[in-house]
Amino acid sequence: MRRRRRFMIWEWLAVLTANKGECMYCGDRSQTMDHVIPFADGGADELTNLVPVCHDCNRRKTDKTPPVWFIGMDQTVRWAGNGTPQGRSGRGDGIMSLREMYLSVHEEVLGLLDDLDTVAAEIADPKRREWFKDRYRLYGYPSASYGVARARRQAEQRISEERGYPSVDEELARRMKQRGLSPAD
Ligand SMILES: [Zn+2]
Repeated sequence: MRRRRRFMIWEWLAVLTANKGECMYCGDRSQTMDHVIPFADGGADELTNLVPVCHDCNRRKTDKTPPVWFIGMDQTVRWAGNGTPQGRSGRGDGIMSLREMYLSVHEEVLGLLDDLDTVAAEIADPKRREWFKDRYRLYGYPSASYGVARARRQAEQRISEERGYPSVDEELARRMKQRGLSPAD
């Protein structure tokens, strides 16, 4: 049986603040990390397989991949007694056929996979990763006295003050300037 690893604070922050801090699946504020390929199915316990999500989506998705989860969602069509694979008998009433329903889910899944690629690239960005690692590595793992929520508030404030993630070189220059040193020293 594989054991899950614990994530350090900087890793939590790198994931939770990606996608503008929003849940990958519904757009609410993110609260936790989701294994895109479920851990139970052999998904990697690494940042490359994690995205920011809210607790509700995390609970609903369970051990499914996003395409399987989306396709399995209740389509909430009510055929009201005269449903057929082509829609309602009589047509022209705006009820989708099974083919149209499937194609619309298919479009949604493709859009989601595009979004997942974008967020994965953001989380993998080495400059951005360094930014979090550099500031939060020493805090180690979340604890009762210094948890993810508090670190996140701090990080989000820093990100807005610094208008994004400065490169590590810029950051080094800034710190040296604070100490009255020039980068050449
Ligand atoms: Zn959500």
